[in-house]
Amino acid sequence: MSELSTKSLKHLTGMTPRRVEFLSVDRQVNSYEDLLLEFPYKYVDRSHIYAIRELRSDMPYVQISGRFLDIKYVGEGRSRRMTAQFTDGTGTVEIVWFRGIYYTRQNINETNEFLLFGKPTAFNGRLNIAHPEIERAGAKETAAGTLQPFYNTSERMKRNGLDSNAIHKLIGNIFKEIGPTGITETLSASLIRRLNLMTRGEAILTMHYPPNTPTLERARYRMKFEELLYIQLKILRQRNSVRTTNSGIVFAHSGQLLADFYNHYLPFEPTNAQKNAVREIRADLGRGIQMNRLLQGDVGSGKTVVALMSMLIAIGNGYQTCLMAPTEILATQHFENISEMLGAMPVTIALLTGSTRKKRRTEILSQLASGELNIIIGTHALIEDTVKFHNLGLAVVDEQHRFGVAQRSKLWSKSTIPPHILVMTATPIPRTLAMTVYGDLDVSVINELPPGRKPVRTEHYFHNNRNSLNNFIRQELQKGRQVYVVYPLIEESESLDFKNLTEGFDYVKRSFPEYRVCMVHGRLKSDEKEAAMKEFVSGEAQIMVATTVIEVGVNVPNASVMVIESAERFGLSQLHQLRGRVGRGADQSYCILMTDTQLQEDTRKRMQTMVSTTDGFEIAEADLHLRGPGDIDGTQQSGLPMTLRVANLARDSEIVRYSREIAQQILAPDPMLTSPENEIYTRRLDELARERINWSRIS
Ligand code: ADP
Ligand code: MG
Repeated sequence: MSELSTKSLKHLTGMTPRRVEFLSVDRQVNSYEDLLLEFPYKYVDRSHIYAIRELRSDMPYVQISGRFLDIKYVGEGRSRRMTAQFTDGTGTVEIVWFRGIYYTRQNINETNEFLLFGKPTAFNGRLNIAHPEIERAGAKETAAGTLQPFYNTSERMKRNGLDSNAIHKLIGNIFKEIGPTGITETLSASLIRRLNLMTRGEAILTMHYPPNTPTLERARYRMKFEELLYIQLKILRQRNSVRTTNSGIVFAHSGQLLADFYNHYLPFEPTNAQKNAVREIRADLGRGIQMNRLLQGDVGSGKTVVALMSMLIAIGNGYQTCLMAPTEILATQHFENISEMLGAMPVTIALLTGSTRKKRRTEILSQLASGELNIIIGTHALIEDTVKFHNLGLAVVDEQHRFGVAQRSKLWSKSTIPPHILVMTATPIPRTLAMTVYGDLDVSVINELPPGRKPVRTEHYFHNNRNSLNNFIRQELQKGRQVYVVYPLIEESESLDFKNLTEGFDYVKRSFPEYRVCMVHGRLKSDEKEAAMKEFVSGEAQIMVATTVIEVGVNVPNASVMVIESAERFGLSQLHQLRGRVGRGADQSYCILMTDTQLQEDTRKRMQTMVSTTDGFEIAEADLHLRGPGDIDGTQQSGLPMTLRVANLARDSEIVRYSREIAQQILAPDPMLTSPENEIYTRRLDELARERINWSRIS
């Protein structure tokens, strides 16, 4: 396929300069290969037309045939829309458009027959279909019984005749030009035979011209498998390469420090899961290979002490260590916790953040360079070039999801032999993600909470239950407990959110005049924030009204209630993180999710998930599923070594597992893919690495 990936679409029959431009800008489609890999986002079975009477809101996309009645514009300004009735003699369904109203109006009328494809939904107890795909009935009848492909386009592509049908035709032109064998295979013949896969050419052709559903499924499987296999080959080969080229610092023994800490300072008995994690880390550190390990554990599972014990191994072997956190608040809290746990141990420790004063900073930097400092804790400030270590042996990174691979590798350069890396995350990662996004890391899991914790009870309240909520909060306050009230403030600059927050603050103050309320948000200066936090931590304030700045970090075991306002606006993992702020003491804690009464289906499911489980892994899986195809969040998407076109990490977990197994089989006898029979893989990996060609420079 190599020539196809560099062959510009300018040369294709049916292309015009404008089409070339639109495809490139709106769809990032530049080459023959790009267009061949623009797979349909859906297929509609043209053999079935539903009667409108049969429609129900739980049906997926359906096709109906009939006529428009009563096409009209309603509403003003932002709520302006167009509606119409659509009838086929068995019934009538309402059709609505919120966007592209005037353009659509030109293409429909009340005289002709039309075919509509859309998703029926229930609205105010009635069925409607928003933004259906519209076609003139009988315009160009596709052969009955086939699956009609639908391609992604943009409004301006459609306006310029580059609609789904036109794209299908262009793809047809490619096949005409390159012939049946024009697509180069990317998997070895023996693998294709052994796994009984379609060839690449056959699969791509089938994706665009599926004869029936089972064949389409086979084609899809082949494309997904290939995509996921290459991700695994890339990750695992890279990992092999790191292992062979980067020797790691050998920590020959666990050291006296760890033993002393364990025997005299550790304030509790570690859970078995914590012990296991330390054991795995200890083994890594002695191997002479750089450790890259992910430590996963739910909020409150006790990752910090595992990190500390690992750091003590490094120090006991004569090396320095650092711990990096995503926010200043979290870094400060780590610093305080760890300093306290270390007690009188002979270990030197310092905190370095953006707001460390210049004089102190200079002092810290010189102590780091001389080796006087054993542990440095800080924010991203730690990876700045000015920060030089005497001998960094282990770097711990907290909250991986805010910290990319690139930043991780910046840490490597802090030492001649790359330091061992331990990444901690409180967002449990589903196995399929762990194998792809974090596939280069070994994983330790803390799947057990310290004893005596009562799971947080979660309840879903509607805005109109506010009085009973306030009564409940008052009861808890009277017991001497503390309460968080969190407001969404997604973009710290959104003024409407900010208004809600300050109004919420006023409301809480008015509702609980006998208690002290503090407020924390991202617009405060760092010392103001600090002061407000201190009020709450010290117990001076009993209620804290805040934005998600408290999502990570705050540890106030006396807090027993977490109220999350407008909970519908938070994602599952964020809700779970917030809930993790309570339930840190021995008493029963509560999480209250406040929402509107009118909820979207997926919001309702999110709330249900939160109410029914406190298991972070279960929540992470549910999250991945609810977010639907291709919709993993930005950080995760950017963590992927390649973009996914067909595979979906949530739905295709079986194929993810299988492709990893096969990749391991391929690499076992040939860790760097250098043998001739694996050349096909090396070549394709190189090609994929060059995928981002600068098209503006190719004419
Ligand atoms: P997280 O995994 O969320 O970072 P922390 O490390 O902050 O969790 O631990 C949460 C709390 O649990 C801390 O107060 C810590 O001291 C305590 N803790 C950790 N491990 C244990 C244990 N084995 N037994 C009792 N308490 C523990
Ligand atoms: Mg933590």
